[in-house]
Amino acid sequence: MSSAVFALFVNAVVALLFAGAFTYIAASNPSFRRVYWLGAAYAVGALTPASELLVRTSGWPAPFVASSFATFVGAFYVTAVALCRLYRLPVPWSQLAFLLLLSLCARAVIWNGQRDDFLYELAYQLPFAIATFVCALLTYQALPRGRLDALLCDLFSLSSMHFVAKPFLAVRFGSGSTASEYVSSVYALFSQSGTGILLTTIGITILLIVVRKMLDEVRQVADRDALSGLLNRRGFNWRSEELMKAALDGGRSVALLTFDLDHFKRLNDTYGHGVGDWFIAAFAEVLRICCPPGAIVSRLGGEEFAVLMVENRRGESQEIGESVRRHLLHLAHDGYPLIRITVSGGHISAPADIGLAELMVRSDRALYLAKASGRDRICFEKVGMPGNLGPERRGRPTSDAAVS
Ligand code: GH3
Ligand code: MG
Ligand code: MG
Repeated sequence: MSSAVFALFVNAVVALLFAGAFTYIAASNPSFRRVYWLGAAYAVGALTPASELLVRTSGWPAPFVASSFATFVGAFYVTAVALCRLYRLPVPWSQLAFLLLLSLCARAVIWNGQRDDFLYELAYQLPFAIATFVCALLTYQALPRGRLDALLCDLFSLSSMHFVAKPFLAVRFGSGSTASEYVSSVYALFSQSGTGILLTTIGITILLIVVRKMLDEVRQVADRDALSGLLNRRGFNWRSEELMKAALDGGRSVALLTFDLDHFKRLNDTYGHGVGDWFIAAFAEVLRICCPPGAIVSRLGGEEFAVLMVENRRGESQEIGESVRRHLLHLAHDGYPLIRITVSGGHISAPADIGLAELMVRSDRALYLAKASGRDRICFEKVGMPGNLGPERRGRPTSDAAVS
């Protein structure tokens, strides 16, 4: 087996392995069915080295010369569709189909061309350069664009440039005057290996992007509460650390609001859990409406909620707490329009160096005060209070804690 044939064989196996991996991911994850497109792209791509092997071994090279080109350029356009699906971009079907058709026409025009000629090589390679450039452009549109997406964009750009460079190398090193001579040439060995390495790197990068997206999805599910759609305690802790760090770095103040729906057990006992659940979901919606975009809004558990935010102006979080409380007073269940529920809240605003644990303790203490002093109110704690009050002092209004 010659070196070039061996390189073709390796390329075919690698492409099939990627096709298998993407197909397996798509088949075993209902929310990642779109990855079938990547499997299809690599399956089509595997036909290229297979065709080139047949060019060498079949004794009737013409159809395999055609299929070698068509499957290679076709694989890039299937990849373009796969990238659109992966990044949830609209698929520019007509533009992609037009470019594919143009590529096939270009190949037909140079069908009997002089292979060692620079213009022939340029016309042969340009369709691949354009197709990979299209993939780079699509990857560039990925939002949000992480490091792997940026790397993939660079790899497609590099591939595009390497296809442009190939005609120069073909002329410099000689690419053989017939299709059969080509596969035995030194140029073919380096051309196949170089392209193979690039496409393998692209495949691994796409595979990592798919894995990252799957992990993101799993984390989304693990960090969210199914009933309210808000972050759960796990998600709250995770995001809060990031917010506290950013606020600390920026020397900003943070505010924590904790809410607990009033007499919720009584509501459940009187009207049933279904109605209780409805109010939990509806209260979550009230929080979404009232809280600013950067706020971390969560259901800590049961009928308890928390909102952590950077305070952009003095009194902002206090106003938000009041607005949440008032919104709730107007919330009415379709089936039971007369039910009114109320909420009690604790509120603290302090420089970020106070830390999340201390914020939670103080906000909870203010919440306890709100419950103890009649419910349906938001109480706040002033910074400067000692962190640990004994149980005997809890709930008793002090000069530093107040009802707003
Ligand atoms: P308080 O005003 O003192 O907060 O009284 P409460 O009745 O709201 O407080 P308590 O802690 O005694 O009861 C909380 C209730 O919240 C008990 C539980 O059945 C209810 N609850 C917790 N999680 C859910 C849920 O997911 N759905 C429903 N419907 N009820 C829930
Ligand atoms: Mg409670
Ligand atoms: Mg309650």
